[in-house]
Amino acid sequence: MDFSSKLLENAVNEMSQLPGIGKRTALRLVLHLLKQPTPQTEALAESLQQMRAKVNFCDNCHNISDNPLCEICASHNRNERIVCVVEDIRDVMAIEATSQYRGHYHVLGGKISPMDGIGPMDLNINSLVNKVKEGRVDEIIFALSSTMEGDTTNFYVFRQIEAYKVTTSTIARGISVGDELEYADEVTLGRSIVNRIPFENSLKNS
Ligand SMILES: [Zn+2]
Repeated sequence: MDFSSKLLENAVNEMSQLPGIGKRTALRLVLHLLKQPTPQTEALAESLQQMRAKVNFCDNCHNISDNPLCEICASHNRNERIVCVVEDIRDVMAIEATSQYRGHYHVLGGKISPMDGIGPMDLNINSLVNKVKEGRVDEIIFALSSTMEGDTTNFYVFRQIEAYKVTTSTIARGISVGDELEYADEVTLGRSIVNRIPFENSLKNS
């Protein structure tokens, strides 16, 4: 692409770093911003800066939060002894939208994926294993998407905790293989949490 302005080119280059945004889309978005009143673009830049500078992760579950404890961990109406293990905040949002779950979460921050250079040490696994070791958890619900990386991660975590006194379950597979949780409809996802099955049964099936 030949740009008539270096400023324009820089903005397009930055925008096209985002996932799913190619150079053409980036150019369309940047030109759109140029047409907007200045305060609107400034508000966008400001909100991104603030988010980057101030956003926190919950000390307990690693969910994104404005406070040291997220709203779910801070709530007295949630059962902290049931912990649903998910990949990221999008899964928390998807499960919360079902209104079928009253336990806590544990956000791993990704899945084990050797192809992408992501190993167990890059994820929030130790803090989960510690919760189990310390006897703070009765049930772990695995709710990672059933991709190869999801299954690998579930199994890795399972091996770390199986020696301890804790029930392990996995969400029922109304969610078809390869589906990402966030795309499941609320009813299906809600049912699959309620009708969860012992984790070991899921191993026999696969
Ligand atoms: Zn939390």
